[in-house]
Amino acid sequence: MTHKRVYAFSEGDGHNKKLLGGKGANLCEMTQIGINVPPGFVITTEACLDYLKANTLPADLMGEVKKQIKSMEGATGRSFGKGKNPLLVSVRSGSAMSMPGMMDTILNLGLNDETLEGLIRQTGDERFAYDAYRRFIQLFGKVALGIGDEHFDEHFEEVKQQAGVKADVGLDAGHLKEISERFLAVVRRESGKDFPQDVFMQLQLAVESVFRSWMGKRAVDYRREFHITPDMANGTAVNICAMVFGNMGDDCATGVGFTRNPGDGSKEMFGEYLTNAQGEDVVAGIRTPKPLQSMELEMPVLFSELVALRDKLEGHYKEVQDYEFTIEKGTLYCLQTRNGKMNAAAMVKTSVDMFTEGLISKERAILRIDPELLEQLLHPRLDPDSPARPIAVGLPASPGASSGKCVFDADLAEKLGNAGEHVILVREETRPEDIHGFFAAEGILTSRGGKTSHAAVVARGMGKPCVAGAEGIVVDVSLRLAHAGDHVLHEGDVITLDGGTGMVYLGAIPTIPPQFSEDLEELLRWADEIADLKVMANADTPEAAKKAREYGAMGIGLCRTERMFNASDRLPIVIDMILAENKVERVAALDRLLPIQRADFVELFSVMSPDPVTVRLLDPPMHEFLPTEHDLLDQIHTLRLYRDVVRGRQTALAALPVKRDLPEVLSELSEEFVNDALIKKERMLKKVRELQEVNPMLGHRGVRLGIAYPEIYAMQIQAILEATIECTKKGIEVHPEIMVPQVITTQELAHVRRTVDELSAKLEKDFGAKLNFKFGTMIETVRACTRATHLAANVEFFSFGTNDLTQAVFSFSREDAENKFLPMYNASGILRDNPFEVLDTEGVGQLIDMAVSRGRKQRPDLKIGICGEQGGHPGSIRFCHKAGLDYVSCSGPRVPIARLAAAAAKLQ
Ligand code: PEP
Ligand code: MG
Repeated sequence: MTHKRVYAFSEGDGHNKKLLGGKGANLCEMTQIGINVPPGFVITTEACLDYLKANTLPADLMGEVKKQIKSMEGATGRSFGKGKNPLLVSVRSGSAMSMPGMMDTILNLGLNDETLEGLIRQTGDERFAYDAYRRFIQLFGKVALGIGDEHFDEHFEEVKQQAGVKADVGLDAGHLKEISERFLAVVRRESGKDFPQDVFMQLQLAVESVFRSWMGKRAVDYRREFHITPDMANGTAVNICAMVFGNMGDDCATGVGFTRNPGDGSKEMFGEYLTNAQGEDVVAGIRTPKPLQSMELEMPVLFSELVALRDKLEGHYKEVQDYEFTIEKGTLYCLQTRNGKMNAAAMVKTSVDMFTEGLISKERAILRIDPELLEQLLHPRLDPDSPARPIAVGLPASPGASSGKCVFDADLAEKLGNAGEHVILVREETRPEDIHGFFAAEGILTSRGGKTSHAAVVARGMGKPCVAGAEGIVVDVSLRLAHAGDHVLHEGDVITLDGGTGMVYLGAIPTIPPQFSEDLEELLRWADEIADLKVMANADTPEAAKKAREYGAMGIGLCRTERMFNASDRLPIVIDMILAENKVERVAALDRLLPIQRADFVELFSVMSPDPVTVRLLDPPMHEFLPTEHDLLDQIHTLRLYRDVVRGRQTALAALPVKRDLPEVLSELSEEFVNDALIKKERMLKKVRELQEVNPMLGHRGVRLGIAYPEIYAMQIQAILEATIECTKKGIEVHPEIMVPQVITTQELAHVRRTVDELSAKLEKDFGAKLNFKFGTMIETVRACTRATHLAANVEFFSFGTNDLTQAVFSFSREDAENKFLPMYNASGILRDNPFEVLDTEGVGQLIDMAVSRGRKQRPDLKIGICGEQGGHPGSIRFCHKAGLDYVSCSGPRVPIARLAAAAAKLQ
């Protein structure tokens, strides 16, 4: 089957991004809605895949390309490869997902010795023509022939030095001619061949190299980092477009714009431009560009055309656009548009604003935000009360604050970052090949370039703080230091960046947690109205519960009571309980714990009132509250040595003729005192040895403990019910839910239920009213899933404990998997995700579906939720919505993400 591989901008389907790439589809769409785009065409992503498979271009492809070039010649009145009025083209990559700077682009293609002369004659501008030529030779040499930039840069700098000029604009035609000649010689020397003069050969090599760049390291790393899978983007398209020039004089310019400010979302002209320059000058940060606002004074007519372009783009795409434009001799062209990548604050504000302006619906306002993006809003800001003084100031290019050791190259940043160090990548300017350093860094600082420079765009996309164009900083990579005013920053010195203000500080400056904006509150209110799933928090203390409330939690889905046991005032009592030789001793310890637990619950219930609080009865194996055998042996050894010292001291004192007064503390440390400590430690050691298990997480824990020591669960149940009464008496509405962990059979539930019934009957009698609470089970064993029908007959709710359930389904120890083999499994693609982070919908999900349907068949009003870590992950939330769960429960700071994801799940 032959399929069409080449589409003119006037015929391609603007919605088919998979086939035409995002850039190509938008060029087609813009052309078809009447925006002034230079003529051109798109070679499809399918052609790319065919090329990569066969390692050669499809047979008829260049024939189709030639036909398109012919029609471009017709549209522009120019000829490709001919001396008079030559047609030059740009060759750009573009896949279905935006991957800024990750793949290759070539400009000015079509220049050779003949067309160069033509261009000079036609424009009467020798300087311009040689400038275009040298740019083309370098880009083509780098991208299509694989010749490193440094081979060219060396000559460029040399000529600049000889000419005594600092900026490129200072070079005249003669200099640029010399540079072009030197560049041609570089190509000859490095590639062993002359620079190709046949323009169709240039085009073919360029197309092939763009196709190959899809599998280049940068692009592959980027796709892996951002989880771009083949079903999202497969192959790159190639966009071939007639060149227009922003560097033909002072009535020319080139720039990039955002339809709204991507830093804070406000509706204003935002972007940068340079007069008499070519596109790459703006993004590469080689000359510091001017803000678009200056254009209003400099080129007022064109500025109003640009405003109209901005309005048309936003009105059509109903989304904030990131566009590129060029003005050639007073004519404005739009060269590209795509959905703007913005930080979370800007996404939230533009969602609320665009809904208010009537541009988008509430549903769209929610769906356009990737819930994970909200994570950025949970990042800290610099403490405004900190007296720190900045050592340098740059452009606030990506908000947030972070500290770290400054590092001057991406490789070292990656190495240190991966080793767990906090690093700030400090560069003169960044390039796409620095991307691995971005991933590892806490923030990025550059001394050149604007808010749309590579560093700024990439950092914003990643939600990392970036200060760009801090010109007061001079970086010397070879000496591994940077000067910032009077300060010398050595590699490894700690600095702090504030990407919201552009300030750079020496040392680590304290930060404060972020606060929710009005806009975010509003958006999340809409989300709550739309979502079916409720979002609860996993919180174990009143403080955590308060925080969770602020994040919008609608209750507590999991309170792990063992975490209450670990507080310093309780642990000794818990240890006494564990060391108890008999029930009487154990009950004595539990009696001391009861009032403490009850007070905890009163506080927790009060904070969450009137929403439900799910309290899980004790779950972990007992040994977790005791020191390890190794530590105990060590302590016992030390105590024995110490006892010898105490004995020796006493012997020495007895032998001395004169008694001395000893400090009180020493005299208190008598042999009996040390012996008591030794006895306690030895009892602990004995207990630890008794409790030892080969697989404790599959051992004596959860409800099995509750059955072995019913008095422990009885104390907890009593504390919950008494706290309920206490709150009710105070007029606080509470809805406690008692949850049993690790259940495999109804008999276990019946056992615990008996205690619940006995205690509640007794307390209700004393209280004189019915107690309002629910009884439920965690579903975290495979057997619980298979026996869901029977379990449901005994409980009012299920809560999927997908941490343990995942462990059981995979037969992976969750304590070990994440550090040992999971990263390798993920890197090699054997498993796409870490199943302890992202719910394994194909495996664990099947069991959940089964348990939900069996449970609900038995008890249609069964309340069902999830409380494993996956409960805060948007993909997992989508699954939970489809599975018909009532709620998800996750850690407090993930609650906003989960709220948005729950609404999105309903809308998708
Ligand atoms: C679970 O297993 O998913 C769970 C929430 O319990 P824990 O992580 O405490 O074992
Ligand atoms: Mg569990």
